Amino acid sequence: MAALPDSPARSTYDVVIVGGAIMGSSAAFWLTRMDPGLRVLVVERDPSYQFASTTATNSCIRQQFGSPVNVKISQFGADFIHNFARYIGDPAAPAIVLHSFGYLYLADTPGFADILRDNAVMQNRLGAATRIMTPDQIAAEWPFYALDGIILGSHNPVNEGYFDGGTMFDWFRRRARAQGAQYIQGEVVAMARDDGRVTEISLADGRRISCGHVVNTAGPRANAVAALAGLSVPVEPRRRFTWIFDTPEPLDRDLPLTIDPSGVHVRTDGRYYMTGCKPDDGDPAVAPDDFRMDHELWEDKVWPAIAARVPAFERARVINSWVGHYAYNTLDQNAIIGPHPELANFLFCNGFSGHGLQQAPAMGRGIAELVIHGGFRGLDLTPLGYERIIRNEPLLERAVI
Ligand SMILES: Cc1cc2nc3c(=O)[nH]c(=O)nc-3n(C[C@H](O)[C@H](O)[C@H](O)COP(=O)(O)OP(=O)(O)OC[C@H]3O[C@@H](n4cnc5c(N)ncnc54)[C@H](O)[C@@H]3O)c2cc1C
Repeated sequence: MAALPDSPARSTYDVVIVGGAIMGSSAAFWLTRMDPGLRVLVVERDPSYQFASTTATNSCIRQQFGSPVNVKISQFGADFIHNFARYIGDPAAPAIVLHSFGYLYLADTPGFADILRDNAVMQNRLGAATRIMTPDQIAAEWPFYALDGIILGSHNPVNEGYFDGGTMFDWFRRRARAQGAQYIQGEVVAMARDDGRVTEISLADGRRISCGHVVNTAGPRANAVAALAGLSVPVEPRRRFTWIFDTPEPLDRDLPLTIDPSGVHVRTDGRYYMTGCKPDDGDPAVAPDDFRMDHELWEDKVWPAIAARVPAFERARVINSWVGHYAYNTLDQNAIIGPHPELANFLFCNGFSGHGLQQAPAMGRGIAELVIHGGFRGLDLTPLGYERIIRNEPLLERAVI
């Protein structure tokens, strides 16, 4: 993308969006699509997006969630992917393919097996194609697994797998700008409040901008941005590791995104394979610029786990790896979307933990509906509102990745 200007064209905007990665760009896209007259400013501190979660993502979508609202969000996400050019409003937009190899959750305890069974009933009721599989059924479909200790698996072969989230991000941004949203390079460092509203934001260079609404799409820095308005949100940066590897004994079919009881996940990635996990040190919050790789983890944990589950990975060879940050919601690892009760024009769009990319179409639309209509229209996202944070009532998700 061409370098961004660092000065806004105006001194007043209807909506200022803090953070211009996939969530901020989806919001900017939907706002300007639904109301082309809206003056929308997107402020992004690092337009290279080098350290954004969006850049580190594994870009998968699943229907296997434990709460109905998340299933519905992903159903919309799949529909958005399948009909990308129509939604994005440009016939020149490329098709995005959803590679439906599915997620395969493996249970090795009766407790987790029960959770998967219960979740599948709810998912099926909502129209998802989740199936509970015995070890024999799993072995028949994917003979390469070693299934010692596995009680059952839960797999969904429809609308679940990889999609090209980079293209989706690119087109959100491109269409948002074509529809009139302005992107600038800058860091929001202060906010002024008056009578229960944010009235203006300040940039690091001292410039001040009046605003009708502020949207917090700052990813792992969400709490720092909330603090500028005198608020807090239980979101912190946590490291997540990804490795791409090759093997001299490639599998003869796609490897589902397998969530192993060891905590390691592994899947097909084109002609290679992708695996990942969280740190082994208790998974603490880290500084927003802490992207240390744990070089022991591959040797000590990841490689043994994947080679035990898929013996053909015994001779796996790492060809790439990276560290990214989840914007980890410490209450329940779910999105927080909507206003703060004390500050009606400050909208959260935060805390996506490991599933924000697939939720970006629904979340951006939800933000636009809140600004334009004062409430959700397409999908009722109120179960993901800030009120549950105040009540300390987690929206339980018992099958996370
Ligand atoms: C390793 C890994 C794997 C993942 N895999 C998946 C997956 O398979 N499927 C899925 O759905 N999701 C996945 N996710 C999650 C998904 O990538 C994120 O939820 C999503 O990208 C969040 O986007 P965002 O725009 O909210 O945040 P980010 O991409 O982090 O963007 C936030 C932006 O805000 C900017 N910013 C912050 N503070 C300020 C400020 N004060 N002023 C101006 N700009 C500011 C930052 O520079 C940044 O560009 C994964 C994440 C990781 C790390």
